[in-house]
Amino acid sequence: MACVFCCIVERSAPADIVFEDNEVIVFKDIQPKAPLHILLVPKEHIATVNDLGTQHTAVMGKLFLVAKQLAEQWSIAGQGYRLTINVGRGGGQIIDHIHMHLLSGWRR
Ligand code: 5GP
Ligand code: ZN
Repeated sequence: MACVFCCIVERSAPADIVFEDNEVIVFKDIQPKAPLHILLVPKEHIATVNDLGTQHTAVMGKLFLVAKQLAEQWSIAGQGYRLTINVGRGGGQIIDHIHMHLLSGWRR
């Protein structure tokens, strides 16, 4: 069966998409663990950080720049947010297609 995040990229599975360009897609997490919880995903299927090569330097850098841009757009840059990439089952990774979590909106 195809990877669920590849299906979202191809529009064969639904998602609440908040940003997209030629390399990256960003959508809301289906089971949010914070008031704001989105996933930043390279469109290319790369299973885990362990599978990265030098050819992925630009797209992985772009994940950070898109996260920063969305944080500014949603006015959470000042209050702060958490960026997380889980790696492998021992690191809490469930979906084997690299994704960066952006979580924010907790009361402090
Ligand atoms: P991981 O544990 O692999 O780092 O994170 C996977 C995340 O993907 C989880 O937070 C989970 O709620 C989310 N997720 C799993 N399946 C789907 C889906 O079909 N659609 C969306 N939008 N999120 C999903
Ligand atoms: Zn995939």
